[in-house]
Amino acid sequence: MKKNLGIILLSALLMLDIAAHFVVLSSLYPMYSVDSGFRAKLILNSLESEIVRRDNSKLPDVEIANNPIHKFNIIFYDDKAYIHLNRGLIRLLSDEEMKALLAHELAHPILGHRPVVMPKLPNGPRYENNVETIEYVEYNIAVVKAREEMLKMEIEADRYASRFADKKAIAALINQLVIDDIEKEERLHALGFQDSSQ
Ligand SMILES: [Zn+2]
Repeated sequence: MKKNLGIILLSALLMLDIAAHFVVLSSLYPMYSVDSGFRAKLILNSLESEIVRRDNSKLPDVEIANNPIHKFNIIFYDDKAYIHLNRGLIRLLSDEEMKALLAHELAHPILGHRPVVMPKLPNGPRYENNVETIEYVEYNIAVVKAREEMLKMEIEADRYASRFADKKAIAALINQLVIDDIEKEERLHALGFQDSSQ
């Protein structure tokens, strides 16, 4: 019995020693990882060739701008599109989520989407004799219309993305990144997810 205990103790010490060596060695020789922006570019490249192969779609000239502050977004300049990816986001997303995000952003130019121009806030007062002015009534209607148009495009882009990327990854992105609760719910619903807990 005593002998067995000794062996157990000895092997435990040996394992601790091996573990300690690993800790020291890994801090001396850090693993080299692929640059995070480069990973996004690799995923974009394979996604683009998949889209061309399956859909024969004309792709926009896309560049990934590794941006420190932007939320992911796509910005058009004439025939060129820039996908702005937030650096933190690049590090956080799994490969499948990255693919979902890029497929969604690529879908916008492929589907011919153009940025929606938000209406300008009227200059005059909002109320006259406690009644909302006609300018404000029209402004509010225009805002609702613009939001609906944007939501429609987001849903179309999600649907397009779901043909190339995992639906669950798209839903995870929507859950994490969409701030507006109504937009979140509508987009998840359109993808076939009933609520944000799924
Ligand atoms: Zn979008």
